[in-house]
Amino acid sequence: MIFLLFGPPGSGKGTQSRMITNWLEIPSISTGDMLRAETEAGSELGQAAKSIMAGGGLVGDDLVNKMLAQRISRPDCQRGFLLDGYPRTVQQAEFLDQLLAERGLPKPVVLHLDVPVDALVGRMTSRRQCPACGRIYNLLHQPPKKPGVCDDDDAQLVTRKDDQEEVVKDRIRTYEKLTRPVLSHYQDRKYYQIRGDRSPAYIFEEITGVLEPLLAQNGCGRPKVKRAN
Ligand SMILES: [Zn+2]
Repeated sequence: MIFLLFGPPGSGKGTQSRMITNWLEIPSISTGDMLRAETEAGSELGQAAKSIMAGGGLVGDDLVNKMLAQRISRPDCQRGFLLDGYPRTVQQAEFLDQLLAERGLPKPVVLHLDVPVDALVGRMTSRRQCPACGRIYNLLHQPPKKPGVCDDDDAQLVTRKDDQEEVVKDRIRTYEKLTRPVLSHYQDRKYYQIRGDRSPAYIFEEITGVLEPLLAQNGCGRPKVKRAN
């Protein structure tokens, strides 16, 4: 089966992506990983992407789509795969529809981690980093032992630029503007909205609750996940 995972910055999408793909033993594919792999391998697509990025440009849909078409042809994708952060645009979504249809692959199952903006902002602006060792703390659920200083080296913790409220709000706005049309594209498919303002274990439990019946229908049942309480 094929899964698309959507979620705003700070929604814990990366964590859920790892949990789902470990559980189902399928690869997780993100645009960033594909770009890195292609540029490191020095492939034709990788070189094209590299020269665009070196010029300060954004790699366009066509190039990303080509990389995706190649990536999902690999043997590790035979049992399915999860796309994390792709498609980012309606053009990419339409390309993916066509690609899957051409290859006789099933329509994707869309998982959308939905987190209220206030909760996202709260989560992200409560992050602090140690400038000396790089360790990340979160004042909400992983605070340092002594307020404001690193447990390991007593350095004064700082807020990273990325975690400042205005920057965070801006990133969320950009995400929503980009993603809303993509999500509407999938609204009439197998589309599941998952509330993301809870613990990672709880969110994963809800996801497996949605996926287990679908997997059973498709005859690719996985071992039951131990329920967290
Ligand atoms: Zn430190």
